[in-house]
Amino acid sequence: MSKQFSTTEKEYGFTTRAIHAGQEACPSTGSLITPIYQTSTFVLDELGKNKGYQYARSHNPTRTALEECLASLEGARYGLAAASGLAAVSIVLDLLKAGDHVVVGEDVYGGVYRLFERVLRKFNINFTYIDASNLEAVENAITPETKLVWIESPTNPLLKLADIRAIANICQRRRTPIRLCVDNTFATPYFQRPIELGADIVVHSTTKYLSGHSDIIGGAVICNDEELYSELKFFQNASGAVPGPFDCFLALRGVKTLALRLREHERNATLIAKYLESHLQVEKVYYPGLPSHPQFDLAKTQMAGFGGVVAFVVKGGLEAARTVVNSTSLFQLAESLGGVKSLICHPATMTHAPIPKEVREPLGIVDGLIRLSIGIEEGKDLLKDLESVLALTQQPITAQ
Ligand code: PLP
Repeated sequence: MSKQFSTTEKEYGFTTRAIHAGQEACPSTGSLITPIYQTSTFVLDELGKNKGYQYARSHNPTRTALEECLASLEGARYGLAAASGLAAVSIVLDLLKAGDHVVVGEDVYGGVYRLFERVLRKFNINFTYIDASNLEAVENAITPETKLVWIESPTNPLLKLADIRAIANICQRRRTPIRLCVDNTFATPYFQRPIELGADIVVHSTTKYLSGHSDIIGGAVICNDEELYSELKFFQNASGAVPGPFDCFLALRGVKTLALRLREHERNATLIAKYLESHLQVEKVYYPGLPSHPQFDLAKTQMAGFGGVVAFVVKGGLEAARTVVNSTSLFQLAESLGGVKSLICHPATMTHAPIPKEVREPLGIVDGLIRLSIGIEEGKDLLKDLESVLALTQQPITAQ
């Protein structure tokens, strides 16, 4: 008989829960690591009696292990693993009906914006975009129809923070309850736990840090309330965007080293953010761990660490940005973030291309903006890579 581990036991530290929660040895074989249950269906003991599993769209043991582990890491009771981050977002939005209104932090991931504006508006769900770092703006945007406040913190790509506890208070003070959903993809539960700060729902793109190796697409929805969980579970089963068992296995494998990886991501990110801040070709650096970040104080209290994403504006606009992103050797030009390999991306033409120029530019997503997902290579090698490409953007001094 393998030892039992209660996923809700708070006495265990984060890394212990990442390795054990939901992952008891298999009772029938003793398999130490949760197996990949590559099956679509499960045999019943007799009519009306099964072993907890019947059809893999509804439940699969590899997925259950991942869900229990993620819930435990977020300090919550319930988790749902989804086919992608956007599938996770969709499941939460299924809670709404025509006529409902959502208050949204303005620099959300471009794909989330596209889902809200191009898909859900067709069903008469309405969205108001505000600067979620401004509590008055959040409060003023709420209408009698508001059912949900949707924020990312830190945001993608400008790493702005929202005060999760204060926004949760705003939502809870209303006579008709408004739910607060936080996309915790950037911070991860290692650095920030929104449910403990008063949020109702957390979503993740597990594609990013949670799996951590840039080899799966996945998502998750986490919550504490049983009724809310049942509703979300119903919607997921009804629409069917579930992850396969192999992807769940990879996510669960990745989660085991989340804390170790994040400490390295952050160490490298801090080194690079400081370097960029002192560089003459750099106009602005965005990183919550820099004292120059306008919400550095909030970052220090709300988060246990500052993450591995750094954004900066290179002098010289689109042409200079093009030179930088096309010329790095270690930083790979690619969308996504949160993997062990460093990536470089140009939000205006890549991740945030669905947002019209006239909307994105006033937000700060300008043509010279570059986003770095700092990996866990040697920090000095990453610095050298950036140093050499920034040198290429320097204007030649022409003789008079
Ligand atoms: N949320 C954030 C903050 C993201 O950055 C992304 C993707 O980049 C998503 C959600 C969507 O996740 P996925 O690509 O796994 O569907």
